[in-house]
Order: sequence, then C-alpha cells, then structure tokens
Amino acid sequence: MSRTPFVGGNFKCTGTASSLTSLVKGFNDSITGYPEVEVVIAPGTEYLGLVKAVAHRNIGISAQNCVPKSGAYTGEMSAEQVKDMGLPYVILGHSERRHVFRETDAEIAAKVKAALAQKLCVIFCVGEKLDEREANKTQEVCFHQMKAALTTIAPADWKNIVIAYEPVWAIGTGKVASPEQAQEATALIRSWLSDNINASVASSTRILYGGSVNAKNCADLWARRDIDGFLVGGASTKPEFSEIVKACVKPKAKL
Ligand code: PEP
Repeated sequence: MSRTPFVGGNFKCTGTASSLTSLVKGFNDSITGYPEVEVVIAPGTEYLGLVKAVAHRNIGISAQNCVPKSGAYTGEMSAEQVKDMGLPYVILGHSERRHVFRETDAEIAAKVKAALAQKLCVIFCVGEKLDEREANKTQEVCFHQMKAALTTIAPADWKNIVIAYEPVWAIGTGKVASPEQAQEATALIRSWLSDNINASVASSTRILYGGSVNAKNCADLWARRDIDGFLVGGASTKPEFSEIVKACVKPKAKL
C-alpha cells in the first residue's frame, strides 16, 4: 500500500522568537509546494503559539512531549493542553526523554495512551544505544520499546501513530546510519507490527528514520523500501530542511 511520506523537524530546545520566525517563514516559501509530503515541525513549548501563527497551514505543528494529565506538574504540558492549543501532533519516547530525562517505558506508554485519547497523532520514537547495537541488541531494544507502549492500542488509533526509528548513536552525532542499517531496522519494526498487531497496520503505518539526516544523505535513505520519511533534528533548524522534504517527493526505488 502507498504511505504518505512524513518529514518531521524537531527543533528541540533551540531558537529564539526572531530566529524561528525567519526560519519558518522560509519554510512557508520552500516547503508548502509539496503537498505529497506531510510536514510537521516541533518547536519548544514556549514557541508553539508563535510558530503556529507564523507557519503556513500545510505545515503541521507538534509538541515535543506531554504528560498524561493536567494538574500539579510544574513545567509540563498535558495531552489535553496540546489538543487545546490546536496542535495535532506530539513526539513521545524521544531518546533524549528516555536517556537524559530517564523516562521509563511505563511513563511513555501512559503518555501515548493519553495522547491517543485526545486524538493527537503520536510520533513514537524507538532506537538502540551504541553499546546495544555493538552487542547485537538492536531488535531486542526496539521490540521491547514497542511492546511497552503499542500493544494495547485500539485498532482505530493506529492511523494516529507514526514510528520513528532513531538509533541513539546517530542522533546529533553526524554519524548517520547507513541506508542498509536503516532499512534493516525499519523492516524489523514493520515485521513486529505484522506479528504483534496485524498485516494491515504493518502495511499502513509510517516508519521514519532519524539520526543525523541532512540534505546530502537523505536521498539514499529515502530510496529504501521501509523508510517512509524522516525525523530530523539539527538539519530541521536550517533552510536545508526543505531539501529533505523535496527528496521524499521522488517515487521510491525498490531497494
Ligand atoms: C532527533 O533529535 O530526533 C534527531 C534525529 O536529531 P539529529 O537529526 O540532529 O540527529
């Protein structure tokens, strides 16, 4: 089945009102001519309102995280508040949340459940650390992370899940996974969906690659069969982000 290409830009904790305004205005001109690609950008919480006001309506806006419930959680934003701000997407399970902020599988699973209950689209990240790859544990780690958060999803909610395979050793390091490594891992993720959910979810769910994607390396990755787009960090804060979006317009080679 054909899956709509998806490119997400995660600005993380970077930018200012002025720099993000000019970045996003540039994207309005360079990206919105590619309706074949679903493009989503995720600024920091403090700039969500600003970026939403500046961005062209064809560019979706995502939160970078949320907590399951509104209440006494200083410094956080709840799934309900993400929805209330008119934001359709949230990134959950990012490796920086897992490994820097020590979010557990159970906490991430609760966030996914709450976000889906608000009808948000969840960009769910999985991926192994370098020592885990070197110990041949890529499959085990990704499957474990998926099992913890995705096995209880209601059939109707699968359309609101995008999975991003993001090997931790490739994030922000300039050391991109080879197209073979990225294809192998995304195919494994699709096989997990087939074995543990069903064949229809496996063939319809978008699976992204993330980790040091840039304008130069994206075409070879995009050519791979199971890679439906990208989650981009550093390069999404530069004009080259539009080159990555454009790369995903090309028909896929069967590699
Ligand atoms: C990310 O943080 O999701 C990411 C992929 O970062 P980078 O592109 O900078 O490696």
